[in-house]
Amino acid sequence: MTVLPRPQEQLPEVAHEVRGRLLSVRERVAAACERSGRDPESVMIVAVTKTHPPEVARAALAAGLTDLAENHVQGLLAKMAAVGTESTTGRAVRWHLVGRLQRNKVRQVVGRSVLIHTVDRCALAEELSRRAQRVGTVERVLLQINVAGDPTKAGFAPEQALAGIDAVRALPNLRVEGLTTMPPLPPPEADPAELARPHFARLRQLRDEARASWKEVVQLSMGMSADFEAAVEEGATLIRLGTVLFGPRRT
Ligand SMILES: *Cc1c(COP(=O)(O)O)cnc(C)c1O
Repeated sequence: MTVLPRPQEQLPEVAHEVRGRLLSVRERVAAACERSGRDPESVMIVAVTKTHPPEVARAALAAGLTDLAENHVQGLLAKMAAVGTESTTGRAVRWHLVGRLQRNKVRQVVGRSVLIHTVDRCALAEELSRRAQRVGTVERVLLQINVAGDPTKAGFAPEQALAGIDAVRALPNLRVEGLTTMPPLPPPEADPAELARPHFARLRQLRDEARASWKEVVQLSMGMSADFEAAVEEGATLIRLGTVLFGPRRT
């Protein structure tokens, strides 16, 4: 009979592993910042812990990360319940929702102090604002832009981005803090970073145009494990990292 280690006993080893990976990610971010003349402090790592157990999220906090993300509301609420809103070092944990949000799940997520990266249509924004108003809160959101016009991806078309921000900003209980994009899946042989780069550059251009009118539109959520260095070089302020920090997803 094999005796599985209890979560508490697992923690030090997981934490050690995550710490090592984070160190190397931070070095790569710093190098990308160096190449593009940016301050590494302007890049926030959002740790995507989806499919990993709560002890992995705790290991991320123990390693010094403060921003945790899930891609489903269910997973987010479960992790928040298991991990809490304060890290072991006493810092506040910032929670992010980075996956598609269904309208019927909005009620469960409003008022939880979560940055929602994926407002991809006006109807969703309206429902968010309505529900936020009901619980007396202002939701912080990013608008998802389908920069590549990828039919398999959600989001506002780039030509609609400014009008979209304008419309969503006008809703009473939402605060639009920036933009998100997810470039198309690269073909197997391709260099994902170089394929994604023009999409990142376009998102930044849209953010710059938006910020000229609305100074609160600052965040650029772009870049994942395979392409975060290109994203940083193109101006990402939030990079969403899973695999590079935690290894392959456990399904
Ligand atoms: C899973 C996920 C990520 C992280 O992906 P990795 O390639 O593992 O870094 C980032 N963004 C979103 C929206 C995700 O669902």
